[in-house]
Amino acid sequence: MVDLKSQYVKIKEEIDNAILDVIDSTAFINGPEVKNFQNDLEKYLNIKHVIPCANGTDALQVSMMALGLKPGDEVIAPSFTFVATAEVIALLGLTPVLVDVDANTFNIDPKAIEKAITPKTKAIIPVHLFGQCADMDAIMAIADKHNLFVIEDTCQAIGADFISKDGKKKKAGTIGHIGCTSFFPSKNLGCYGDGGAIFTNDDKLDDKIRIIVNHGMAVRYYHDSIGVNSRLDSIQAAILKVKLKRLDEYAAARNNAARYYDNAFKGNAKLKTPSHFEKSTHVFHQYTLVTNGFDRNKLIEHLQEKGIPAMIYYPVPMHLQKAYLDPRYKQGDFPVTEALSNSVISLPMHTELDEEQLKHITSSILEFIN
Ligand SMILES: *Cc1c(COP(=O)(O)O)cnc(C)c1O
Repeated sequence: MVDLKSQYVKIKEEIDNAILDVIDSTAFINGPEVKNFQNDLEKYLNIKHVIPCANGTDALQVSMMALGLKPGDEVIAPSFTFVATAEVIALLGLTPVLVDVDANTFNIDPKAIEKAITPKTKAIIPVHLFGQCADMDAIMAIADKHNLFVIEDTCQAIGADFISKDGKKKKAGTIGHIGCTSFFPSKNLGCYGDGGAIFTNDDKLDDKIRIIVNHGMAVRYYHDSIGVNSRLDSIQAAILKVKLKRLDEYAAARNNAARYYDNAFKGNAKLKTPSHFEKSTHVFHQYTLVTNGFDRNKLIEHLQEKGIPAMIYYPVPMHLQKAYLDPRYKQGDFPVTEALSNSVISLPMHTELDEEQLKHITSSILEFIN
């Protein structure tokens, strides 16, 4: 699905030197590379504060801790997402309130959010799924009206622009009160291990978050709140600094591959190509088709025989996952999410796809369905 090796080979010298410099300095934890990468990312995102942390899941957890959410508080999230979003809500003793998504963008449906709000609702976590922003204009309007926090899960959409109704462009993750991202190797900005970051324009939240990721400690060995240990390693920060410079170029390569796929499948009644939401650019973390009228598992088998990987993101909606079964939800509650779980398929998507590979992938798919 991703070709990290070819991408590495192209920047090998720069990456190797960055890693060797950290080893040479032996400043493995909180070395200057972490601060340098933080500054670069703040500039790139045009945001006041970036707080590096250990992974995207921690970023979400720490955000909810910093907002002071308490057990029993309700947090609204989409049912069609990766588990981490709902997981940390539950882990903190908060109540995940799942809602349906939009059939075209796969992102949380603002109308469904409004319907799910109760006096206990404290926050909304929109997930910018597959690389395209949710409708942040609508979501921020709802949040303002009901006095709710918004935590953007931008683990899949770093670098995407949201174009607000006033024409202003903002980077995904910088619109809500807090943004969260992951630097897992296969993400659009991936390091060579685990990593993550939290974004905010709020000075007070920045202070709180920095204390929480450091064992609840502002002054060494004085712990004013309960925190966690969540750091980005210096080596990972050094790698990310090299890769951040190329993030826009990488997004362009992904868009080129997406265009090739779009053209190949255009007008095909059995495959719906990804919708382009007019308020967002797309960074194609995934290229996801909606299938219609054939057995997608047979297609996956057919592709496997030809050495082509394909994946289903996500085969089971959150409200039907064993760990999250809840008497409030039953099969049929979120028809769009359920239909997507039963019909989507994601194709290989990365920065190194060449025309020959794209041709092989698309012709193998068309040969199967036609
Ligand atoms: C990857 C991902 C996460 C979790 O990130 P990790 O770094 O793996 O903890 C959370 N939410 C979404 C939508 C993701 O894609």
